[in-house]
Amino acid sequence: MAKSKTQFTCSACAATYNKWSGRCEACGEWNTITEEAPFSAGPAGSSLGTTKGRTIELSDLSTEETPPPRTVSGVAELDRVLGGGLVPASAVLVGGDPGIGKSTLLLQAAARFARMGLKTIYVSGEEASAQVRMRAQRLGLTESPVKLAAETNLRDIMTTLEAERPQLAIIDSIQTMWSDTVSSAPGSVSQVRAAAHELTAFAKRKGIAIILVGHVTKEGQIAGPRVVEHMVDTVLYFEGERGHQFRVLRAVKNRFGPADEIGVFEMTGRGLAEVANPSALFLSDRGTPSPGSVVFAGIEGTRPVLVEFQALVAPSPTPQARRTVVGWDSGRLAMILAVLESRCDVPFAGLDVYLNVAGGMKVSEPAADLAVAAALVSAREDSALPADTVVFGEISLSGALRSVSQTENRLKEAQKLGFTTALAPKGGKAPTVDGITSNRVGDLASFVSEVFGAGHKAKD
Ligand SMILES: [Zn+2]
Repeated sequence: MAKSKTQFTCSACAATYNKWSGRCEACGEWNTITEEAPFSAGPAGSSLGTTKGRTIELSDLSTEETPPPRTVSGVAELDRVLGGGLVPASAVLVGGDPGIGKSTLLLQAAARFARMGLKTIYVSGEEASAQVRMRAQRLGLTESPVKLAAETNLRDIMTTLEAERPQLAIIDSIQTMWSDTVSSAPGSVSQVRAAAHELTAFAKRKGIAIILVGHVTKEGQIAGPRVVEHMVDTVLYFEGERGHQFRVLRAVKNRFGPADEIGVFEMTGRGLAEVANPSALFLSDRGTPSPGSVVFAGIEGTRPVLVEFQALVAPSPTPQARRTVVGWDSGRLAMILAVLESRCDVPFAGLDVYLNVAGGMKVSEPAADLAVAAALVSAREDSALPADTVVFGEISLSGALRSVSQTENRLKEAQKLGFTTALAPKGGKAPTVDGITSNRVGDLASFVSEVFGAGHKAKD
């Protein structure tokens, strides 16, 4: 039996190491690795011995399982991300940057669920009850039957939940909770994990749905929500840029529904309002077509969403040209620049490149490749695409274009918002949608020369 020794854990991503280092190799964060006692793997003992247990009843795969009964909040954007409502005895983690509006979202959700008849308790470890009540007043929620507590001691909270028997408990935040069985400070990886473990196990045992709030942190002393993702049923991230009023609630894991589903909200003076048609919102401030601006017909979860990519290309004043991306993957941008350069003869050497997704949206679909390439070439050639055009398609390293899923849904959404032309890859099923002309291209070089008259095809 190996003696348990100290290990080093990254507070951002929970990777473990045998020795300390300044940078986490798993997630790339600096100064996030701290020393701590290993998380207990269970009771010691080399084998189960000879004592017999009881025989477990086995079932077969055809056994009919009734779907879990769900409670809907009535906020469609929230219910969809949860997979169709809140499942009893489930554990949900809501992560996000501090100050992005998680407490506002969850206080509104608590009020909604309470109004739908769920006995709801909101435990804040961040603010005093008076502060939560003030927020409730500002949001116009003072009438809802939510019970409040300001507490951080896990034992007291669980005793209270045991006595009150709510159907939903919201814990804001998991980083402020502490268990007296763990010696390290609140917010450490061990404390956060122990608290999450205790609370989720308790929720399952007692049939309470539990929502944990987790702040995404940059400091090494406070553990981030990723260290407890594996313990819960559903992981949601609340995203948005400060200065923008849009907020996106994104499911990254869901045992009871599809992952990748998003809900879109707008931050208003009276809290978060749901946005039923996000495409219109993300495209709302589009004026006349300008070079570098391209509309991408994307899919988020089960829903089509149109977003605008904006690129700026300018001669670089420094030998090391800049590559700046907001809302998209920087590695993917480097790949597309390389493909444009080597397959299409459109070089970006000596040019600064800035790429931005309008409205503070984040896009992760490879289907956005072609829209990004179009924005880059459009900016470089100072030539705007017509305002009624949407673009989508994946680019391979060879410069070939690959067709993407849900073409029909993308086209329908574009048509609904007044677009008349789609630039998309050849191949695959080619559904047609009335009112949209699909312009299908086989490879990136032909796309660049046909649309912008640029690249090597245009020269010969
Ligand atoms: Zn890490």
